[in-house]
Amino acid sequence: SGGLVMALNGQPRVELAASDREVVIEVEELTKTFGPVPVLNGIDLKIRRSEVVCIIGPSGSGKSTLLRCLAFLDPYTGGRVSIEGQLLGYKQQGERRLMQGHRELAKVRRNVGMVFQHFNLWPHMTALENVALALRVTRKLKADQAEREAREALSKVGLGDKAGNYPSQLSGGQQQRVAIARALAMKPHVILFDEPTSALDPELVGEVLGVMRQLAVEGMTMAIVTHEMGFAAQMADTVVFMDRGVILEQGSPDEIFKNPRNDRLKQFLDTWR
Ligand code: ADP
Ligand code: MG
Repeated sequence: SGGLVMALNGQPRVELAASDREVVIEVEELTKTFGPVPVLNGIDLKIRRSEVVCIIGPSGSGKSTLLRCLAFLDPYTGGRVSIEGQLLGYKQQGERRLMQGHRELAKVRRNVGMVFQHFNLWPHMTALENVALALRVTRKLKADQAEREAREALSKVGLGDKAGNYPSQLSGGQQQRVAIARALAMKPHVILFDEPTSALDPELVGEVLGVMRQLAVEGMTMAIVTHEMGFAAQMADTVVFMDRGVILEQGSPDEIFKNPRNDRLKQFLDTWR
């Protein structure tokens, strides 16, 4: 999405150069252990406004754990994660200390949307109810306002006519688009995607990537864990290669895919060609 001309309020404008844009997520020296097992071993990463960051790497390298720490679904062990300048969570100077009250934390987290591999829709609720529920619970909207905004979000992902369908009446691709609508409806400042197309039949991958491409073009800030190298090559501003809990290389798609320097990255890419 870098260098695009976007229309805001009908006014065309040229995006700032990526390096001049505001940092939305800042990760510094992030570590995470499960019991004694280190999973993230010192991650440094900046994600700027309207940037699309694709995270690639072998299974077990800590990609999901990283996203979960960014959304504070899991508390991290060391280092810092800041969202729009606000420190997320706990821990300073080796001492577990609440940096934010729960209410403050909830407010920051609300700006971070998340889309998972498994869509996690409620089976007994329609697409509309799934999206509206999230709005009533998290943004405390009244039922009619929640429904209006839920319809809007469903239209945005091309499912305006499926609002009354239950998940079982939707394809996997459509269910994932409902999950994206649910995230979008919260009006997040950034959306984290964890292998959003990995559970889908190949013929359904395109429609989900299409929605994500649309969001990128509109300037949504996104971090996407994906094995879709074609998508990453085409849509990412920055590609991040993780292995064993560290970032071994990051750069533009050209740098990562055409001119990889790290041996493990080269090896990893070979298995995807
Ligand atoms: P990826 O998403 O890159 O496949 P994960 O972040 O899921 O990697 O996992 C990284 C490592 O952390 C793996 O070795 C995994 O077994 C371990 N791990 C992930 N979640 C937990 C957990 N809740 N408890 C213990 N170990 C975990
Ligand atoms: Mg994972």
